[in-house]
Amino acid sequence: MFSLETANIEKAINNAKALHPKVKMIEFGTYEVTGSKCNTYTVKCYRAHGEKIVECNCATRDGIACKHSMAAVSLHIAMAAQRGH
Ligand SMILES: [Zn+2]
Repeated sequence: MFSLETANIEKAINNAKALHPKVKMIEFGTYEVTGSKCNTYTVKCYRAHGEKIVECNCATRDGIACKHSMAAVSLHIAMAAQRGH
C-alpha cells in the first residue's frame, strides 16, 4: 500500500510501460493486473484521509509503488476522468 502523493511513482510508471501489463477492471477502483509470469494481482485504488491510496497484493513492501499498481492507476485515472471525478 502506498500513497500517490508520497511514493516515487516515476520509475514505477516506466517499469509498467516496459512490462505492458494487461489490466482488467473488476469494478471502479478494483483492477486485476496480469504480471510478467502470467500471474495476476489485484490492485485497489481509493481515497482515505484526503490521500489517494493504492493497494496491490504482490510482495512489494509498503510505500513503494509497484508496476502493477501503476498500470492499474493509469486505467483508474482514465475511468475517474470519464466519471467526472
Ligand atoms: Zn504489485
